[in-house]
Amino acid sequence: MTRKIETIEKEKYTERELENLANDIYGDEEVVVLGMRMQSLYILKRLDEPAYSELLEGLQEYVDWYICPICKEEHEDESDADDCCPENGPESDN
Ligand SMILES: [Zn+2]
Repeated sequence: MTRKIETIEKEKYTERELENLANDIYGDEEVVVLGMRMQSLYILKRLDEPAYSELLEGLQEYVDWYICPICKEEHEDESDADDCCPENGPESDN
């Protein structure tokens, strides 16, 4: 099929996944503050939220999702969007 399928760019990772990525890359060292153990990333978030957001944003990736031209539903795979709704309703003449 050749009908045009529009795409939308979506964030690949959730904040939680980005935090896991950051921990994998930079280490999830815990710091003891007044006897309480805290994760480095947690401390960064509390101390300097813009720096925390910038760090996660730097790890974010964007992927294209495909929009069904009929019902506008978003699909991760182009073929799913293409197969989502029959082009001419239930009747087809090819
Ligand atoms: Zn559809």
